[in-house]
Amino acid sequence: MDTIKLVDLKRQYAALRHDILPAIESVLENMQLYLGPQTRAFEQEWATYTGARYAIGVDNGTDALLLTMRAYDIGPGDEVITPANTFVAVVEAIMATGATPVFVDCDPATYQIDVAAAAAAITTRTRAIVPAHLYGFAADIDALCAVAHPRGILVIEDASQAQGLHYRERNAGALADSAAFSLYYTKNLGAYGEAGIVTTSDAAIADRLRMLRQHGATAQDRYTTRIPGYNSRLDEIQAAILRVKLCHLDVWNARRRAIAMQYDELLGDIVAAPMPPAECDPVYYVYVVRLAERARIQQELREHGIETGIHYPVPLHLQPICAHLGYRSGRFPVAEAYADTILSLPMFAELADAEIERVATTVRAAVCQPSGAIR
Ligand SMILES: *Cc1c(COP(=O)(O)O)cnc(C)c1O
Repeated sequence: MDTIKLVDLKRQYAALRHDILPAIESVLENMQLYLGPQTRAFEQEWATYTGARYAIGVDNGTDALLLTMRAYDIGPGDEVITPANTFVAVVEAIMATGATPVFVDCDPATYQIDVAAAAAAITTRTRAIVPAHLYGFAADIDALCAVAHPRGILVIEDASQAQGLHYRERNAGALADSAAFSLYYTKNLGAYGEAGIVTTSDAAIADRLRMLRQHGATAQDRYTTRIPGYNSRLDEIQAAILRVKLCHLDVWNARRRAIAMQYDELLGDIVAAPMPPAECDPVYYVYVVRLAERARIQQELREHGIETGIHYPVPLHLQPICAHLGYRSGRFPVAEAYADTILSLPMFAELADAEIERVATTVRAAVCQPSGAIR
């Protein structure tokens, strides 16, 4: 039996290659590989798509977070609040600015940042809250802004798992002060390599980002470094690929929602799963379930040719890089319990109905052995 991969991008490529290959070729024939027409066009298209005024292409999502925080002058002495159950890149980005990450637990129903916990974690040093839209569900951004903005605290979306996400008639990328997107190849909108983009409607921040991504210099005066920056540009080949893929994003996201509904129907009676908040139209970067005997079930799925993942197995406050911050195990009980029990099932737009059924049947058989499920 064929393996069902967690993400199988060969199928998407097979469908797109007739558009992708000429796009790459045209960049190579033009031979302007950075900050050229493809990047400018993609930035414009992404700004329009998200509803933010500006979009600034960078090398990857981790840099998108780092450069955004640097653009706001977040640095040593500052604190940045983020959930304990997201990807470690946000911690690296906060630490790279010199600021201190402050973790909070997640909501037990949606698995998104717990807004009351974030409010309680605010101190006089807090400069920003950086919620992730985890799994392609929306964090409760309006509630976070209501807590943060009156105190002069920024809200920066980590929208890396949320390309195309709608929340209250608006789009991820235009929900708060700025947003950082990874466009890593496995994301809902992914390049064929590294890519990231920042969106904001603040002209001064957009200008700072354009400098920070290119050695702290302006485009007009490339060899004068005005602020210590980075080499972190979106490249033209990736921008050309992303422009082709952007035309399909809404259709892919709709298919991901349909797949999630099928999983819900086939498995909802035997496994726990995070509930998308009512005010969003989730884009299911991953489809997560929670299982008491995760290791055994993951192994059984592997033996039946079904690949799974864990997003993510180690809560951020328990990562070795955070040891000096003094968090102990037990501090964030929801995030910790979930890290031990979550499992991501195959999820990509080209997944066939028969494959969804095979995954569900195999999960059901594994779970329905004694004590496999969490109810
Ligand atoms: C993928 C991801 C990132 C990091 O993006 P890279 O492009 O791999 O640097 C950051 N945050 C979240 C939530 C992600 O899913």
